Amino acid sequence: MDLYEHEARQLFKDHGVEVPDAAVAVSPREARAAAEALGGRVVVKAQVKTGGRGKAGGVKLAANAAAAELTARQMLGTDIKGHAVRAVMLAQPVDIEAEFYVSYVLDRAAGTFLAIASAEGGMEIEEVAAERPEAVTRIPVDPGRGVDEAKAAEIAAAAGLPPGVASVLMRLWQVLVREDAVLVEVNPLVRARDGRLLALDGKVTLDANARFRHARWAAPEEAGTDGDALEAVAAAKGLTYVKLDGEVGVIGNGAGLVMSTLDVVAGCGSRPANFLDIGGGASAQVMADGLTVILSDPAVKSVFVNVFGGITACDAVAHGIVQALDTVRLTRPLVVRLDGNNAAQGRAVLSARAHPLVEQAATMDGAARRAADLAQRGA
Ligand code: GDP
Ligand code: MN
Repeated sequence: MDLYEHEARQLFKDHGVEVPDAAVAVSPREARAAAEALGGRVVVKAQVKTGGRGKAGGVKLAANAAAAELTARQMLGTDIKGHAVRAVMLAQPVDIEAEFYVSYVLDRAAGTFLAIASAEGGMEIEEVAAERPEAVTRIPVDPGRGVDEAKAAEIAAAAGLPPGVASVLMRLWQVLVREDAVLVEVNPLVRARDGRLLALDGKVTLDANARFRHARWAAPEEAGTDGDALEAVAAAKGLTYVKLDGEVGVIGNGAGLVMSTLDVVAGCGSRPANFLDIGGGASAQVMADGLTVILSDPAVKSVFVNVFGGITACDAVAHGIVQALDTVRLTRPLVVRLDGNNAAQGRAVLSARAHPLVEQAATMDGAARRAADLAQRGA
């Protein structure tokens, strides 16, 4: 469960990590009032659950409250990488002397947590990590021991961060532990001209399995918009759905097949819009639910249904698709690849339905290419 920047910074504040003064606004008028209260000159930041807002025009300096209102008017209602901007945050600008990167992330493969830190934080951190990996320090954190003074000093020193960052690192570890987060990332953590260390941006992912411990977490149905809302709707329907950033919707049976479908779509130069595993579910209801969730994502330009018939045979899945087409208004093209048990019968069922927006492909690669192609045309 990803948090918005303004929610993440509240957790930082709760645990003693300093952040610039800020307020959230959902209308230009509110933005103006908030900017006035903050002293006029503010940074206007789109509240969307995706990174790289700065480069996408989602972080702008406004010289006064009137400019903040105008900037908010321009930002609200737009789309940043497929995420609708429904709120902006107005923050007091900081005079930056240096930008650092610090994060804690659950390393599932190693069965531990990882502290990642760099003295070269800011908008280019991905490039730094790719081009000069030595500039990004990675240190495992034993979850039992956590980040005490010695560990925090070790991380700060290894990454070439000023010693004062150590206390911030200890507090961020408390955010992770106390709030049941699996990711806490601050980029940039800045040293201001006046010497203060401030978290200027924040990304926190909470462990949804710990919901029962946190009465104050928003219920899934009111957890906001974008990916989370879609995921909540899907979860309520019993679907295993994960929102991704691309434009090709994906439905498959079996987690392994869906994972490789994502890879094949990416290999065609397109990007998957989601992960959706219908498991053994071939019923019209499951198919209709899956299609409904995928098609309610405005970023989706085409849908790739990839099924390998096993115990649930292809003709059963095909009947499920055909019946789903009676209840779901298909608004974007659907490419279906059926293979395995009763594939020929399944293909015949779909051909007989002859829906104008549904086409079939014989192979997984061919279907992915076609879906990517259709997505590009529909974009
Ligand atoms: P992101 O692009 O989504 O990661 O958004 P950030 O909140 O990290 O902002 C992007 C960049 O804008 C930061 O790396 C800073 O360089 C810059 N920025 C954000 N807030 C301020 C500020 O208060 N003062 C200054 N000088 N730069 C800022
Ligand atoms: Mn950032």
